Amino acid sequence: MWQDAHGCRGFAMTTTESPQTKVDATATAAPPSGHVSERQARQVAEAARETEWRKPSFGKQLFLGRFNVGLIDPWPRPNPEQTKRGEPFLKALEEFVKDIDGAQIERDARIPDEVLTGLAKLGAFGMKIDPEYGGLGLSNLDYCRALMLLGSANPAVSALVSAHQSIGVPQPLKLFGTKEQKEKFLPRLAKGEISAFLLTEADVGSDPARLRTTAMPTAEGDYILNGVKLWATNGTVASLLVVMAQVPKSDGHRGGITAFVVETESEGVTIERRNGFMGLRGLENSVTRFHDVRVPKENLIGKEGQGLKIALTTLNTGRLSLPANCVGAGKWSTAVAREWARNRVQWGRPVGGHEAIARKIAFMAATTYGMESMLELCCMLADDNRNDIRIEAALIKLFGSEMAWVIADDLMQIRGGRGYETAESLAARGERPIGVEQMQRDLRINRIFEGSTEIMHLLIAREAVDKHLAVAGDIIDPDASTGAKTKAGMRAGAFYAAWLPTLAVGRGQVPGGYGSFGSLAKHLRYVERASRKLARSTFYGMTRWQGKLERKQAFLGRIVDIGAELFAMSATCVRAHAERDVHPEGLELADLFCRQARLRVREHFRALWRNTDARDVAVAKRIADGRYAWLEQGVLPVPDSGEWVSTWEVGPSTEKDVRRRIPTA
Ligand SMILES: Cc1cc2nc3c(=O)[nH]c(=O)nc-3n(C[C@H](O)[C@H](O)[C@H](O)COP(=O)(O)OP(=O)(O)OC[C@H]3O[C@@H](n4cnc5c(N)ncnc54)[C@H](O)[C@@H]3O)c2cc1C
Repeated sequence: MWQDAHGCRGFAMTTTESPQTKVDATATAAPPSGHVSERQARQVAEAARETEWRKPSFGKQLFLGRFNVGLIDPWPRPNPEQTKRGEPFLKALEEFVKDIDGAQIERDARIPDEVLTGLAKLGAFGMKIDPEYGGLGLSNLDYCRALMLLGSANPAVSALVSAHQSIGVPQPLKLFGTKEQKEKFLPRLAKGEISAFLLTEADVGSDPARLRTTAMPTAEGDYILNGVKLWATNGTVASLLVVMAQVPKSDGHRGGITAFVVETESEGVTIERRNGFMGLRGLENSVTRFHDVRVPKENLIGKEGQGLKIALTTLNTGRLSLPANCVGAGKWSTAVAREWARNRVQWGRPVGGHEAIARKIAFMAATTYGMESMLELCCMLADDNRNDIRIEAALIKLFGSEMAWVIADDLMQIRGGRGYETAESLAARGERPIGVEQMQRDLRINRIFEGSTEIMHLLIAREAVDKHLAVAGDIIDPDASTGAKTKAGMRAGAFYAAWLPTLAVGRGQVPGGYGSFGSLAKHLRYVERASRKLARSTFYGMTRWQGKLERKQAFLGRIVDIGAELFAMSATCVRAHAERDVHPEGLELADLFCRQARLRVREHFRALWRNTDARDVAVAKRIADGRYAWLEQGVLPVPDSGEWVSTWEVGPSTEKDVRRRIPTA
């Protein structure tokens, strides 16, 4: 739901590990209004990054050309204690979900109160809250399975539950809250009060440096909140909010973007609007105004200036909920395609028997298997807490949202005209109410929120080149002193002298390498070779463009996409091999997935150096300058009334409050 990035909304080619270039979040936070330069925006993003790597990261190693399969093999196992807690809940949830009328939610653009109170009774709003605060304390794996179930009834239900728990109040408090905050808020949330996360403003989408909502410290130590937040999922029904606001720097105040827990019932909070979208019609998404809202100092999460960092850290595991819905969409699409393609006969055979359709169905099943393998791996790695999964979680968010969209589009094609017809209309004609068009509408946002694809590319690319920036960043940093540059030169010389030779040869070239993986060994050998090639390509890119690499977004995007494919192949092979006794057919799906992934990887590698990127940028600039404006003639002109981006002023609300109060369970 939110955001790009509270993390890297840009790709800052500076390293926070170097004292010379160390970025102070407070120093770089923009003034509450006014111009924000690209450099400032990048610095704010960079300052929000988690810079430390305390645990091993499979993804980070992969980008450095080190395929360390030992980090994911043996395939992790769910913790039996947590499974014991999760299983009965998932059973009860499945029964409950069967009775949710997804079509009604779609029709009414509203999740009925009974659904929300029913979920509260089951404990669904406390899935991720520790039992000591009244929650269920489920594992990430079971939480994602629950979201997938909810999403299969209606994705708006899953979006509500996940916005509440993955980015709303529970997760930041779990990670950064004080004992008092946890004791005060978590039991309420576990019982069914709903929370939301508010960062976005009309002028703050992917770029948090432009944030204008302010929290002014008072003499008593509290804060006074003023501003207008846009697109807050759950904003119309939530009673507790995480709000991001700028605290101005002053005596005794470090200042910067800061996170607060805000009670929606506080004086001065107005829910001015409920927004409507292409899909997720049941979403309770708001425009929320804060006018002189007093927030007690006890409600500050973490420290002043830590807001974006808190948000980004929250997302390390919070990001897993969105791909859970993507995997769910893949499963459902495969089920629909299988039945339909057997039953629909055209040109003398079931449509699934025509090669053009068969290919789509095979892609769907193989890709769903691949996405599920990545997701389950990430969840279990997060649950056993031995690995750093920030890169892997970002990769599955990126890969899952992109692939689920392709799958949905393929399903529409496979269903032909019925794919384009609404479920209601199909039912009215006596056919099965299969809402493919709804699925497409509901899925599309996944490529935009919680980090748009473009921002995810930058965010992951930043992590992929982190080691290079750490050793050599000062060489290309215009602000670094001569001394720092000299030191960096020496550091880089030593690092690259040792590292580059490791990229020349590896186990992937040894016939029989990874032999314990049987028929899938060849794919893992490929991953090992491709990982080294990926690292070499990244290095070539860095030496060729140096500091300008941050602007080569298409190049970086391909580097990241290759990494995503290699991670997906690794997860898929290790899982299929581990589960070969239970699901021997998984080996076939893993093999097909890897073959298809290898074709995509080959194309990405080729496009790194053969592309139209520079020309595209030049033409886009000419388009902006109006050179081809004649091309736009022949259709009605685009509307020229209204703002492109709405503006707001602080002050009391002049709108009717549209909040919806959910009865307590
Ligand atoms: C249904 C819905 C629910 C939402 N829920 C929440 C919520 O609960 N809480 C919340 O705070 N926000 C929420 N959002 C906001 C959401 O996170 C933003 O839409 C998202 O961050 C993108 O911002 P934007 O839409 O303003 O796009 P913009 O930032 O205006 O970007 C426009 C386009 O430019 C690209 N772009 C931007 N910067 C760069 C760059 N540096 N390099 C390359 N490309 C770039 C983007 O990827 C995008 O394609 C929600 C939005 C929607 C639509």
